[in-house]
Amino acid sequence: MGTGGKGISLETKTRPLPELGGGPSLYVHVPFCRSKCGYCDFYSLPAGPGSAPGEAGEAFLKNLEKEWALLGEPGPFATIYVGGGTPTVLDSSTFYRLLDFLGPLLARGGEWTVEANPESLDREKLQAMKEAGVTRLSLGIQSLREEDLAFLGRAHDSRKAREVLDLARRQGPWGLSADLILGLPGREEEDLEEEIRFLLERGVEHLSFYILTLEEGTPLWERARRGEVRLPAPAAQARLLLFVRSLLASRGLPPYEISNAAITGRECRHNLRYWLGGEYLGLGPSAASFAAGKRRKNLSHLDGWAAALGEGRLPVEEEESLPPLLRAGERAWLQLRTRWGMDPGEVRQRTGAPTSWAEKAEALAAFFRGRGLMEKRENRWALTEEGILQADGIGAAFLALD
Ligand code: SF4
Repeated sequence: MGTGGKGISLETKTRPLPELGGGPSLYVHVPFCRSKCGYCDFYSLPAGPGSAPGEAGEAFLKNLEKEWALLGEPGPFATIYVGGGTPTVLDSSTFYRLLDFLGPLLARGGEWTVEANPESLDREKLQAMKEAGVTRLSLGIQSLREEDLAFLGRAHDSRKAREVLDLARRQGPWGLSADLILGLPGREEEDLEEEIRFLLERGVEHLSFYILTLEEGTPLWERARRGEVRLPAPAAQARLLLFVRSLLASRGLPPYEISNAAITGRECRHNLRYWLGGEYLGLGPSAASFAAGKRRKNLSHLDGWAAALGEGRLPVEEEESLPPLLRAGERAWLQLRTRWGMDPGEVRQRTGAPTSWAEKAEALAAFFRGRGLMEKRENRWALTEEGILQADGIGAAFLALD
């Protein structure tokens, strides 16, 4: 299996931009997990072994409804994404009420994703999601090898992951997505190939694959600092990323973003809307919103978020208006993550950046093309496979354009 290289693209033909539907998107952050994984720095509170958040989950749901009411009861939404945290860790009754609350907010034909982890997913919850109209299920599998799951401190084992995959497939059809973490010690290309084969056989049609990073303050970071664990070198991790992209392309799931691949037409519309510059509303602690050139972030901690709502005010931690140049830089950077890339003229038009920005962006893209990092497909600039490995630096260069 080739692993890509300088100037190489996995794109065999130009594809039209997917139809993303009108109206904004809704993200709901559920801030609970069964336990904290060793590498995680997302905001979520551990509910404890074998238990669910109970009353805390109920209170969370009531506050979520309050936040929505304070915002003027917006909707319907073209896409809804319930993430976290682990939404399925909520008690069954709370989880069903959450589904009842969100169902009417989805626009006709809209996409509705719920994230779920194997340890807190069962037949009843799957059935409830199906009946409520959930269209996509995103499973936090991460690995099918026992030693990897123990290394990561996941709350599920490999047997449970396989069992849940079977259950989910039987309760379908729906868009089935699985997350994998790359760059774990001792997990070779052959292991990944075998795991991916298993997932595809179980009906997974969308995969997200992220390289493990050590986030400061997490237990895994601590262990690495003490020299107890060592991750593969960055070059080996980069090779793995290109290997998985190439493997998935050859299995009929072309990558459509740096770390996401799907059967054509089964891409996650919600996330595509983020990357392509769509507007979204976030509910829940630490959730972010973007609309009319303004970005807003909610208070991160559950207590602060709930206290603000209890006082009848929006739980906003920070809000900023993005000037046109920053909007243009961010839009270019995000769009470059996708297989459709970006058109400097279109970015300028959508953000109100000056004509000179588009000229500089064209020149910068041509510079990166000279180094085999970008290519032009029709009128849009996209990253090559080598460019994918340098996406952060390339994105930073577009963000710095004045
Ligand atoms: S399940 Fe996800 S959000 Fe929860 S602790 Fe693990 S990585 Fe973090």
